[in-house]
Amino acid sequence: MTEQRQTKMNIGIRRGDTVQVMAGRSKGRSGKVLSVDPWKGTVTVEHANIIKRHTRPNPSKNVKGGILEKEAPINVSNVMLVCPACGKHTRIGHNRLPDGTRVRTCRRCNGTFEN
Ligand SMILES: [Zn+2]
Repeated sequence: MTEQRQTKMNIGIRRGDTVQVMAGRSKGRSGKVLSVDPWKGTVTVEHANIIKRHTRPNPSKNVKGGILEKEAPINVSNVMLVCPACGKHTRIGHNRLPDGTRVRTCRRCNGTFEN
């Protein structure tokens, strides 16, 4: 792989979070974040932005032919974090607790995300 120097984005979304898709083909859909790519600024969301990949059978690799369905990455600007406390999609705030740990907060209900 060629070396790529890019800026790592501070996405604020982590694997396991629930997000709602705000734009694109899977608009309105919410699901769990399967993976995050801070370099590309994309997230993969469960059951959202499914792409169909047509595969040819390849017996030597034990690959069956047919249609494979897979989640495709979505740009982070098209998803919003769903707050577990109020159940709504929200912007993320950042807070520093008195003991110095940084937490993500919900801008709607001021709830804190557990992580
Ligand atoms: Zn909230």
